[in-house]
Amino acid sequence: MIKIKGIAAASGISIGPAYKIGKEEFIVPKQPIRQEDIPVQIQLFEEALIKTRREIMELQKRIATDMGQEQAEIFDAHLLVLEDRMLIEEVILRLKQECVNVAYIFSEVLKKYINVFSKIEDEYLRERTADVNDVGKRILRNLLGKERKGFEDLKEKVVVVAHDLSPSDTAAMHKESVCAFVTDIGGKTSHTAIMAKSLEIPAVVGLEEATAEIKTGDTLIVDGGMGVVIVNPDDETLKTYQQEEQKLKGITEGFLSVKDLPAVTLDGKAVEIVANIELPEEVPSVKLHGAQGIGLYRTEYFYMNRKDLPSEEEHYEAYRYVAEQMNPYPVIIRTLDLGGDKFLSQFKIPQEMQPFLGWRAIRFCLARPDIFKVQLKAILRASAHGKLKLMYPMISGIEELRQAKKILDEAKQELRNKGMPFDNDIEVGAMIEVPSAAMTADLLAEAADFFSIGTNDLIQYSLAVDRTNEKVAYLYEPAHPAVLRMIKNIIDAAHEAGIWVGMCGEMAGEPALVLILLGLGLDEFSIPPLAIPEVKYIIRSITLEAAQNIAKEVLKLSTGREVEEFSRMKLREILG
Ligand code: PEP
Ligand code: MG
Repeated sequence: MIKIKGIAAASGISIGPAYKIGKEEFIVPKQPIRQEDIPVQIQLFEEALIKTRREIMELQKRIATDMGQEQAEIFDAHLLVLEDRMLIEEVILRLKQECVNVAYIFSEVLKKYINVFSKIEDEYLRERTADVNDVGKRILRNLLGKERKGFEDLKEKVVVVAHDLSPSDTAAMHKESVCAFVTDIGGKTSHTAIMAKSLEIPAVVGLEEATAEIKTGDTLIVDGGMGVVIVNPDDETLKTYQQEEQKLKGITEGFLSVKDLPAVTLDGKAVEIVANIELPEEVPSVKLHGAQGIGLYRTEYFYMNRKDLPSEEEHYEAYRYVAEQMNPYPVIIRTLDLGGDKFLSQFKIPQEMQPFLGWRAIRFCLARPDIFKVQLKAILRASAHGKLKLMYPMISGIEELRQAKKILDEAKQELRNKGMPFDNDIEVGAMIEVPSAAMTADLLAEAADFFSIGTNDLIQYSLAVDRTNEKVAYLYEPAHPAVLRMIKNIIDAAHEAGIWVGMCGEMAGEPALVLILLGLGLDEFSIPPLAIPEVKYIIRSITLEAAQNIAKEVLKLSTGREVEEFSRMKLREILG
């Protein structure tokens, strides 16, 4: 038995067999097949090749119209990869020899090809690696879409063990087949970790040695709350954790008893408890956990795991569904926040030295009004079907808000010209997640209907700590005095200007810190659905006055650790 300590990313306890996956973008389980299934597998492979060819040709046509013939010709190289006889024959030969699913074989052959290409001396040929990689992934996606055997065919739920997982990998996982995941790298508020909370599965990241220490088939205990993974536990440990799992269930049930009650303090101060979502499919869970709306709908997942851009109609259908489902509660749609740790291959954005400080979020959208306006029009159209609000990510100064407003006004005019209904008074908010915005919140408040504090980014920018880097995770402190002072400044500025202010960073769902935020005057807490009952329970157990006193006390403390300890002590007192 060994115990590995990492970073707690999504709480809960899961026990299951390890399922180790490689560094490639796709999770391809190895599944034995019967001899007589080989022709079916070959057929699946051929269909995937045909479908991929069709996709590339369509893409080429669209790019030729939108961007010109020269750009479209880039994809000729992709079509050539599809015709590579050596690659195709190797897959079929290995399929016959090894009798395992074709997706797995193809992913192995692809890896070998990429490896060979990347070592070629000739620079031009070496650069073709990207083409092989790109088209290979496309084929794989089509194969996995067709191949019925996948995670869902595994006999029992597995714990995925990986060096790293991208947010889109996590988004592609199924709760039915994955009961937890653990990774070597990553931080608490990386989008991979956030996605785990959405999937409602425990996760531990930043373990550093997980892939070195764990083999497929090992029994793992994943304690997502403590950030601990136990490999091949002895009977006693296993029993302790099974009991712990039951105890956790009991506590959760206690919190669930208040989930449908309003979030009102003992002395009558009401706040809003709303949910963060990544996908429309989460709406049932949002309702189940008693959210009074959605405070952050991260729309970039809509652009993931696909190669083309979603059309206005597709955006509209998704937003309309969420708006109608949540009506009469509000839904805040956050416009595209690509960049940072969320890469979208469709945009072909060159790699940046510092992606979190680069061409991301509102900066990208303002530079590409063609893409931005498609989303804005869809949000506006959906606003006719429920209570929608919209907000912009990564606002760093008022200029950006003004530019965004100009594009939004154009979008409104275009809809008016077509006679399409929308909510003309839709509330427009700014995310406050850049220190410059936090320090000039009074100025921004003049151009926004509300603020939503994005602490995940605000903390990384103000403390200069990469939110995805496990090596500096110890410095990532939501309770740091600098962060608390900024939050106070934002809330005071908003209230001074007569607008409301929420928080949609993970900090808003940290039980001990909820007391401080309540005391500082936060109006809305937007948190993962699973965290809602507990946060409601806490708010219903304290007076506003007591919370204000706690906030006053912690603002006098000099370190994040002291603040954490003080507020935890207060929480224990309150909850008994
Ligand atoms: C944040 O930065 O706090 C936030 C909510 O946005 P995201 O986590 O998607 O960057
Ligand atoms: Mg952010």
